[in-house]
Amino acid sequence: MSEKNLNQDQAEFQQYARDWLANNAPPPPPVRLPITAIEVMSVEQRDYLQDWQRKCYEAGLVGSDVPTDYGGGGNTGFQRIANQEMSRAGTPFLINVIGLSMAVPTILVHGTHEQKQKFVPGALSGEEIWCQGFSEPGAGSDMANQQTFAKKQGDDWVVNGHKVWTSLGHFAKWMILIARTSREHKYDGLTYFLCPIEGHEGVTVRPLVKMTGETGFNEVLFEDAVVSDTMRLDDVGKGWTVAMTTLTHERGAAEGAGGGGGDTVHPIEQLIDLSRSSYRDGKRMADDPVIRDRIVQQAITNEGFRQSQKRARVPALVDHPMRIPLQGKVTITELIQSNARLGVDIAGAASTLYKLDEAAPDAGHWPLAYMNSYGNTIAAGTNEIQRNILGERVLGMAKSK
Ligand SMILES: Cc1cc2nc3c(=O)[nH]c(=O)nc-3n(C[C@H](O)[C@H](O)[C@H](O)COP(=O)(O)OP(=O)(O)OC[C@H]3O[C@@H](n4cnc5c(N)ncnc54)[C@H](O)[C@@H]3O)c2cc1C
Repeated sequence: MSEKNLNQDQAEFQQYARDWLANNAPPPPPVRLPITAIEVMSVEQRDYLQDWQRKCYEAGLVGSDVPTDYGGGGNTGFQRIANQEMSRAGTPFLINVIGLSMAVPTILVHGTHEQKQKFVPGALSGEEIWCQGFSEPGAGSDMANQQTFAKKQGDDWVVNGHKVWTSLGHFAKWMILIARTSREHKYDGLTYFLCPIEGHEGVTVRPLVKMTGETGFNEVLFEDAVVSDTMRLDDVGKGWTVAMTTLTHERGAAEGAGGGGGDTVHPIEQLIDLSRSSYRDGKRMADDPVIRDRIVQQAITNEGFRQSQKRARVPALVDHPMRIPLQGKVTITELIQSNARLGVDIAGAASTLYKLDEAAPDAGHWPLAYMNSYGNTIAAGTNEIQRNILGERVLGMAKSK
């Protein structure tokens, strides 16, 4: 949003956020931080980032749009401004990404007053970290094929099953969990729970190591884990509908998140700087016409993406509510990937030096970013699936088999 689109309150908030971030930038982290929240591994990283999220929350830069009854600022439209300012200031990411962008908006839509009071403030402050238990070994793209089963027993549910690719599960206090509560119906047999994880009997969290050597992922096993019926979100059998609310936010197709997010493409300036300090056959990469052209192409796509996101907020320019947000998920994730790929190409042979090598350009950022970028095109529903949805629901094409 450019400054001329802001009303007076928003412009004042923007100035306040800018000043606050300039005066309160956190001290350097005690240990190297990963590229995104879902790769946070160590307790030192977690503590540093939790502390930062709490400060941002207390300053009103997190939960700005959330109703005051539930610990937020109650100012619709302010969160986007806060996100832009955090991104502009280059401050660390907010660790509780799943809590902020998925759990909070879903609970605000489907939760009871008590559930909103119980869960929202802790997610906003970052004190209570959330994870997402949707994927299973046999239920990824085919998300309705959930096999984790919750059986009603008195006022409780007894959960058995196996979730996988659970980002942040190793630090999570709560999980947004989809479980099957009836085998008779595929979609209507699903129910959504706010499930305790940390220290909960019957729940085992096991880290999974990625090709980057990081362990942001986990698998989570449920063996007779008891979950109170008060932790059920919305009605029994409504899990699919509730999960769609979560996915709409996860794919960036709706506003109302608690904070964070925003542009995660590495700034073009970083690529330009790299090209100025990288040489091949004695020639500076910044003088190579092919490299110059590729950098400009990245800048054009990036700007196109930014302008498209703005269009999504102008009702007269929106022909289908899902078009720009879904297109945006595909574009941004592929842009992050091509951006990292270009960084690797510019650094050339030095890209084989990894993050612990002192001679690695930008502390080994580019090969790490490139490997991680594949996760972006898979998470939140693969880009192939997003293209199917765009084709079928937005363009009205025949359904894929
Ligand atoms: C970085 C990252 C973080 C994640 N974090 C979480 C998390 O916190 N919680 C969670 O629950 N899950 C998480 N996931 C899991 C993610 O949601 C799944 O990986 C994703 O939905 C794909 O499912 P799958 O891995 O089972 O692949 P599959 O569904 O087995 O797909 C395999 C391949 O087949 C293609 N394919 C499948 N069906 C079709 C079709 N109909 N048309 C065309 N192509 C198709 C896919 O595009 C893909 O290329 C994460 C994944 C990543 C990469």
